[in-house]
Amino acid sequence: MQRHLLGLILGLFLSLQAFAQEEYFFPGEKFDPAIPSPSQFLGYPIGDWHTRYDLIVKYFEKLDQLSETAKLQTIGYTHEHRPKVILTIASSANMANLEQIRQKQLQLADPSQAMPDVASMPSIIHLGYGVHGNEPSSAEAAMLTAYWIMAAQSDLAKNIRANAVIHIDPTLNPDGRDRHSLWANSNKGFPAVADPLDREHNEAWPGGRTNHYWFDLNRDWLPLAHPESQVKVAWYHQWYPNVTTDFHEMGTNSTYFFEPTKPYGSENPVVPRKNYDDINPRFAKYFAKYMDQIGSLYWTKEVFDNSYPGYGSTYPDIHGGLGLVFETASSRGHIQSSQRGDITFAFTIRNHVVNSLATMEASIDNREYMHDYLREFFQSAVAEGAKDPAKNYVFGDEFDESRNRLFVQFLLDHKIKVYENTADLNLGGQSFKKGKSWVVPTSQPQYRMVRTMFEFEKEFADSVFYDASAWTMAAAYGMPFVAAPTAKAGNLVSEVKANSHTFPEGKAYAYLIDWSDYYAPKMLFELQKAGIHVESVHRPFSSQTQDGKVDFSAGTLMIPMGFQKMGTDEVTSKIKQLAAANSQKVYAVQTGLNLSGIDLGSNLVSAVQHPEVIMLVGTGVNSYEAGEIWNLLDQHLGMPITKVNMEQFGRVNLHAYNTLILPSGNYSSLSEGQINHLKDWVNRGGTIISMKNASLWLNRIGITNEEAVKLEGEKEPSSLPFNTRNDFEGAKEVGGSIYLAELDLTHPIAYGYHRKTLPVYRNTDIFIKPSSDKYLTPIKYTANPHLGGYISKTNLEKLKQSAGVVISSAGQGRVVHFFDSPNFRGTWFGTNKLFLNAIFHGNNMD
Ligand SMILES: [Zn+2]
Repeated sequence: MQRHLLGLILGLFLSLQAFAQEEYFFPGEKFDPAIPSPSQFLGYPIGDWHTRYDLIVKYFEKLDQLSETAKLQTIGYTHEHRPKVILTIASSANMANLEQIRQKQLQLADPSQAMPDVASMPSIIHLGYGVHGNEPSSAEAAMLTAYWIMAAQSDLAKNIRANAVIHIDPTLNPDGRDRHSLWANSNKGFPAVADPLDREHNEAWPGGRTNHYWFDLNRDWLPLAHPESQVKVAWYHQWYPNVTTDFHEMGTNSTYFFEPTKPYGSENPVVPRKNYDDINPRFAKYFAKYMDQIGSLYWTKEVFDNSYPGYGSTYPDIHGGLGLVFETASSRGHIQSSQRGDITFAFTIRNHVVNSLATMEASIDNREYMHDYLREFFQSAVAEGAKDPAKNYVFGDEFDESRNRLFVQFLLDHKIKVYENTADLNLGGQSFKKGKSWVVPTSQPQYRMVRTMFEFEKEFADSVFYDASAWTMAAAYGMPFVAAPTAKAGNLVSEVKANSHTFPEGKAYAYLIDWSDYYAPKMLFELQKAGIHVESVHRPFSSQTQDGKVDFSAGTLMIPMGFQKMGTDEVTSKIKQLAAANSQKVYAVQTGLNLSGIDLGSNLVSAVQHPEVIMLVGTGVNSYEAGEIWNLLDQHLGMPITKVNMEQFGRVNLHAYNTLILPSGNYSSLSEGQINHLKDWVNRGGTIISMKNASLWLNRIGITNEEAVKLEGEKEPSSLPFNTRNDFEGAKEVGGSIYLAELDLTHPIAYGYHRKTLPVYRNTDIFIKPSSDKYLTPIKYTANPHLGGYISKTNLEKLKQSAGVVISSAGQGRVVHFFDSPNFRGTWFGTNKLFLNAIFHGNNMD
């Protein structure tokens, strides 16, 4: 009884507190008491804690159970197996017709179908929150917004329920969200500490911004390197929302940002001007009105970027909708002092709540207008595509089935129409074989995404970039491609199946596996893991195989059957099984005497080292780059890699490993003793793979001695106006652009490559001269290397004189320096093999 009374009192106290809460977020609003507010459900006022992701999902499950106006769906899982959920809210009438509403929206977005009557169609609004896990106000705002839509009794709320279907993605990055929430909650003081220097406000490396593999998911709408983005974009194409939001946080001393973004300079080149000139200003009026009402400061236009197509606020702009980025000042923690006094978590949440409401009001006020625009967008895309002189793009790499398959699937994931190529073509010095190449016509609804995949941009309104200034995805995939106006499209491609290769019957003297396929390194690693002895042939040769005479390139794998520890049958069946699993073609030979070139027992054939790889991570290391490497080895190779924190390096015995990866970073915290151990290990044969500025550190500690490029007569103005600093300094950065590199095809770093040139991605202004050893600069740049993206004239000059990859000998060991980004954003499939060659063949590189 007493307990019951206590419970009653406590309950009353909580609901009073919750009432006060609702007043703060929704002044004057009345709510349906049958729907619990987030604070009633969670038992604490919103803003007191960083709500765990599972509780956010639980609250949405509750809303789903309580009312037919809400429906929760799990659309996939994150790397750490958190569910990716979408809560859909609409009137009961619209909920009963949800599938018809969706079909009509698809009809609207498809210009080949009759125009539906948009007067009766609800607005489709997609409210996305929290792509950056350590920008936590957004997910709390998502719960409050869901509650308001379902339970608020105002005319506006009723109007929105009747005229919109709202999809809420409460957390685009659940894994990062929980990483950050745990940090903020577990370091919270009682009373809370506002001092910015407190541990609560300063997360440990790598922080919660990114996903499991330390990727920024607000760059992944285009690359689709992760399940979080794959399911999100698949969902997007099921609905073509009219409006999509993306809620963020910025510095504690800032105020609030909403679109429009910076005119011209930060706009995407394929988005129609109407989006920037007309739609954005229409919506901005609503954001301003709502923010004025609560007296919150804000700004527009100055810096935020909308050019890179992989942002959550740009991808919708390339799909006939409106993508909106919002940024609030961050309390990063529960309360933090700023130039305007203490910023509370609740304050930051309220900023996003009011802009969620403003977005919905603007959307229904512009309901038919946005529907008409959706149709107009795709109609004009087909029309503009028909006028594009390219007419078609043809692509395909005759040497690499897997990479072809990955790229075709990638285009299909973005709903680009791809057709079979019906004839052999020779264009622009490249050959495209029927059956191994494909045709993408420009005249199609996804024309603007076709441009995103195949066009290089070099002209820009601005020279300061928030992010990448080039994203030509065909180049990222290393795809030979060309504009081919006369190409004949065959059948429409709807899926891409891996080829199955017949395994050679009978006994073999040795098996041979070509190294050109994207998954050849995975096959090699799995063979090694299975205990099979594998060698690499370091020169080209021809052999008599089950298919007759076949020419093989340097880097071909050779499995000599006379040198295996296991029995012949066991080895053969294992090879057969792995070849099928990885879609690799295996050749059998009956003799070591080759038809031409070196023989299989040559001194130029050697065992492939079994990679034992360790990578330095932690404070000071570029977590994005480290994450790209971790993701590549885990997800594409199935290779375990030891990630050791800088602080633990003193405990590492490097002699247990053969390869050390140093991502870009600051290594000055390593002690003299640790550096001596590193030097000793390299001198005895270790391989360091060093990225960009890690190479500058290796130079400083004397392991290498490579020289920076200096231009003659290079000098800067001695004095400039104060307010030009950002633009002047920003213009010198290489934010991310694409260049044509030239490969030494005889060097092991280029094993598996067949063309002398290769597009590479570069986002550093470190320019290092070719090696003083004339054999050790396997990757340089062509005479006119600039393919796409922004670079200053001076930097381009320096780039032309610099190297992409340099090898430095160091005693018995060596350093392989990468100055480009071969694994950028998990999407540079075309250059991954350069990096993997360094892992498997590093010991043969100098
Ligand atoms: Zn953000």
